[in-house]
Amino acid sequence: MNIHEYQSKEILRSYGVAVPKGKAAFSVEEAVENAKELGSNVVVVKAQIHAGGRGKAGGVKLAKNLDEVKNFAAELLGKVLVTHQTGPEGKKVHRLLIEEGSNIKKEFYLSFVIDRQTARVVMMGSPEGGVEIEKVAAETPEKIFKEYIDPVIGLAPFQATRMAYALGFPQEAIRKASGLMLKLYAAFVGKDCSLAEINPLVLTAEDDVIALDAKLNFDDSALFRHPDIAALRDETEEDAKELRAAKSGLNYVNLGGNVACMVNGAGLAMATVDILKHFGGEPANFLDVGGASTPETTAEAFQIMLDGGQAQGIFVNIFGGIVKCDNIAKGLLDAAKIISPDGKSFPVPVVVRLEGTNVDIARQMLKDAAVENVMVAETMEGGAEKIVRLVKNAN
Ligand code: GDP
Ligand code: MN
Repeated sequence: MNIHEYQSKEILRSYGVAVPKGKAAFSVEEAVENAKELGSNVVVVKAQIHAGGRGKAGGVKLAKNLDEVKNFAAELLGKVLVTHQTGPEGKKVHRLLIEEGSNIKKEFYLSFVIDRQTARVVMMGSPEGGVEIEKVAAETPEKIFKEYIDPVIGLAPFQATRMAYALGFPQEAIRKASGLMLKLYAAFVGKDCSLAEINPLVLTAEDDVIALDAKLNFDDSALFRHPDIAALRDETEEDAKELRAAKSGLNYVNLGGNVACMVNGAGLAMATVDILKHFGGEPANFLDVGGASTPETTAEAFQIMLDGGQAQGIFVNIFGGIVKCDNIAKGLLDAAKIISPDGKSFPVPVVVRLEGTNVDIARQMLKDAAVENVMVAETMEGGAEKIVRLVKNAN
């Protein structure tokens, strides 16, 4: 789960990490009010969306007086920001962070992530801060430093000190930098984060070290023990289809394409996405209906896929073990009843490949119902090839 920058900074503050003074604002008046309270010479007005790259996209403004705060706030609230992380459709700004300005001497990069190879948390730092870290990693990987953390010992102070020197902090700031790293690590572990990223971490003209930006991601599987974090969820930032699917217990990830698929089991779902790609299709989603799927959840899944006209074709690829093929067939027929007035047609082609438990019953049900646009495929390969061709021909 993602949260906003201002929320991340509040959490970090509670762990003693140095962050600029600031507060969220939901309206222009509130923005001006917050700026008055800060009383600093420069006030930063920052768009709060669940995406980075705001600086380059005009979502971070430096205001020198209250009039400028007012103008920037009015400009940003309600604006759709398009950054390299939002996709072309962008994200609408509903919240701002009003913060005191900082005197930046140098920008660094600092993060904690879980490294799958070593199965450890790794601290990564770079003297090339404020820019896309992916770019640094690709072009000048020698400028990224890493410290792998023993889960029993935790981040050792010597590792933090070594990182602070590697990044080139001046002597006066070494302890401030290493101290911040230790506190950030405490926050990462304490809140079950999957990512804690500070870009930029800055050295100020006064030789202070502060987190100027903050991004925390949380492990969904650990949210049950952090109700305070779960309460920060901002549903307006999340994919509407994914939210709707989650409410029915469906594992759905929107992939943006037009060939939808309904599969059981994460492995088969990934293989299905791959085979659709192999035949030149653009998968609309990853969907694992899971073992507990009922006709109701299956019908809901069909509606989610079709919602907004995203799916121009649907590939049903079910290997019935725990999932019963007749449940899937019933869900499909129920969905047809909801979607079409006579219950006898689907708005887009549906290729169905069923195998396993109760497959004969399911095939007979589909045959008897004779829903227009629904076709049965014998194999996974043949089915994938067919749905991709049908969608291509329709365009
Ligand atoms: P992002 O682009 O979404 O990652 O947003 P950031 O919070 O990282 O801000 C982008 C850039 O704005 C930073 O790299 C800084 O250069 C600049 N910036 C942010 N806050 C301040 C500030 O208080 N003073 C100054 N001078 N620049 C700032
Ligand atoms: Mn940033």
